[in-house]
Amino acid sequence: MKDSNFLKEHNAKSLWHPMAHPGDSLANPPAIITSAQGVKITDVDGHEVVDAVGGLWNVNLGFSCQPVKDAIAAQLDVLPYYSTFRGTTNDQVIQLAEELRKFFAPDGLTRAFFTSGGSDSVETALRLARQYHKIRGEEGRTKFLSLKKGYHGTHMGGASVNGNANFRTQYEPLLPGCHHIPAPYTYRNPFNESGPERLAQLCLQALEDEIAFQGAGTIAAFIMEPVLGAGGVIPPHKSFMPGVREICSKHGILLIADEVITAFGRTGSWSGSRHWGVQPDMMATAKAITNGYFPFGAVMIADHMTETFEKDTTGKAAIGHGYTYSGHPVGAAAALACLAETQRLNVPENAAARGAQIHRGLLALQEKYELIGDVRGGHGLMCALELVSDRATKAAVDKKTIGKLQKVAYEAGAMVRVSGPNIILSPPLVLSDAEAATILSALDSGF
Ligand code: PLP
Repeated sequence: MKDSNFLKEHNAKSLWHPMAHPGDSLANPPAIITSAQGVKITDVDGHEVVDAVGGLWNVNLGFSCQPVKDAIAAQLDVLPYYSTFRGTTNDQVIQLAEELRKFFAPDGLTRAFFTSGGSDSVETALRLARQYHKIRGEEGRTKFLSLKKGYHGTHMGGASVNGNANFRTQYEPLLPGCHHIPAPYTYRNPFNESGPERLAQLCLQALEDEIAFQGAGTIAAFIMEPVLGAGGVIPPHKSFMPGVREICSKHGILLIADEVITAFGRTGSWSGSRHWGVQPDMMATAKAITNGYFPFGAVMIADHMTETFEKDTTGKAAIGHGYTYSGHPVGAAAALACLAETQRLNVPENAAARGAQIHRGLLALQEKYELIGDVRGGHGLMCALELVSDRATKAAVDKKTIGKLQKVAYEAGAMVRVSGPNIILSPPLVLSDAEAATILSALDSGF
């Protein structure tokens, strides 16, 4: 391996990072991670910490999941690639589709369309939503609704339904016909409502109002994360997603659950939709489907939609969409092994227990430190601290303070993620009690 100085210098010289200023890498060099075991990562200087980011919300089973590594190596030996475009398929992807059909049966989802990651999955779901309405003769249903603060990846469709200006402004004009309603974000919302249940009702009313304003017959789908992730971990009141389901059904609007983060156990349930007792029309998945070991994703599709497509006689149902890596056999083999491990280890149970432990610890930190304006979590291993410079005005903390806190926490033993004024925690779901305690004490030393 090249030495630390060479890597730092050439990182700044030769590559641009996603979600970072391209001129920032020398002044703020990133941690250069060179190895990982269990839930711990080690940097080029030999410093080992608990990864409270879980890769990027994806390494649910940790970095040493041998069955997944073995499955990838074995598949590379036998069949490293073959396409699933019309005319060919492969044995791994067929088995995976069957396993996913069983896994997502309680969510009412029976077909899989494979992708190379989360943004692809979102784009696929948006496109299939439009096509579904066209097949049924509702050509006018082309618009999309979504939540402010929601994150749906970076493709043009996904960026258009994203509810955060950072991911939109410099790339406009985006897709026309995409409209946003307020998120059920108790700490800050346009209604000044601090009661989660009442806020959920107000947001549902905003959805009804927007549908009436746009005209129900112009809207293809509503897309939402069951628990908003990248926007700062925003869990809605339990009445919210069922309420969205009811409104969408009433108006013939498809509900797309963006479960790129929440599928496969992160919320403490097997899927985020199941967490709230909702059956979506489509579910976008990626990330933990292969534990981060291979870029892969799947859109799961509900029964009533599959009938519309499969029984179509108009010729409109041929899918003019797909990726070179849709159904990649190595990704499929990795996903099969992940699914088996995820079920064998019953990861949602541990996610719920460790998530509750971390959430309690964060609430205790809030008692100690004025900087912590809001603590969010309580639904598996997705938690956040929102930092403020003044609790009364809720003025956001400055970048320097939060950056320093992140650095001190890293030195003290935990990698945490900073997103705007939020510190986000999304560790692997196989985290132990002691490792959760390490994350909390590392954060404590940061304040
Ligand atoms: N949707 C959600 C909810 C996500 O959190 C993400 C990524 O974090 C995406 C979509 C995009 O996924 P990817 O980065 O794999 O394209």
